[in-house]
Amino acid sequence: MSKSEPVGDGAARYPTAVTAADFRANLAAVRARIDAAAERAGREPGAVHLLPVSKTVPTERVRVAIGAGLRRLGENKVQEAVRKNRETADLDVDWVVIGHLQTNKARDVASFAAEFQALDRLRVAEALDRRLQAAGRSLDVYVQVNTSAEDSKFGMPPDELPGFLKALPSYGALRVRGLMTLALLTPDDARVRECFALLRTLRDRAREETPELIGDGALSMGMSGDYEIAVEEGATCVRVGQAIFGARAVPDSHYWPEG
Ligand SMILES: *Cc1c(COP(=O)(O)O)cnc(C)c1O
Repeated sequence: MSKSEPVGDGAARYPTAVTAADFRANLAAVRARIDAAAERAGREPGAVHLLPVSKTVPTERVRVAIGAGLRRLGENKVQEAVRKNRETADLDVDWVVIGHLQTNKARDVASFAAEFQALDRLRVAEALDRRLQAAGRSLDVYVQVNTSAEDSKFGMPPDELPGFLKALPSYGALRVRGLMTLALLTPDDARVRECFALLRTLRDRAREETPELIGDGALSMGMSGDYEIAVEEGATCVRVGQAIFGARAVPDSHYWPEG
């Protein structure tokens, strides 16, 4: 879809969802595209989970989305996730932190998050583990890998992954689920696909060499502009914001440094 659709006007491409019916329609449309991509690749559609990402969306609209059936939401920034968790405390919803974490925010994540998808440094693992042990909790985590070879992207270089996975069992409160990545932001689908294929290869290699270190080998990859490619390349979780909630005014460079 990223190449066949007009580039530019995000608002036209991703209209803002306001009512529960809008959300149900957007979710059904994204789900149908996920299922079709899975089938094209000979995969089981049920093996792909959709994680709606609500960053920048005001809590009032998030509440409408929860009313439309969402039970698990992704947020990039810890402070925003903490606030929305508080503002939806009367509702049944789990929060997944998908963005870069500073060690000084580890306590917040440990206190409420259901999952953390951007683990990329041992210092963060150590800080999270300490807070989690103190709280008597454990946390599902994905290790974020930089598959686009851009210096500016978060995530560890692929060659550091095996050593990182070997170090993680020391942090007993963290349960490794799999790997996460952001693809190159480019209209060139072939280059996007290479990023996703690399994450799958890294997962396959880890499964072969150290199966006890990679959990169920989940692959979190794909966003509004590229999730169909990600599903074709093996994604088990796609993180989709704009195609469900509507276009964001805040540029992506606010969330990760651009190359
Ligand atoms: C915002 C975000 C997404 C979703 O991006 P959309 O373009 O809204 O689909 C996925 N992953 C991460 C890490 C994000 O911060």
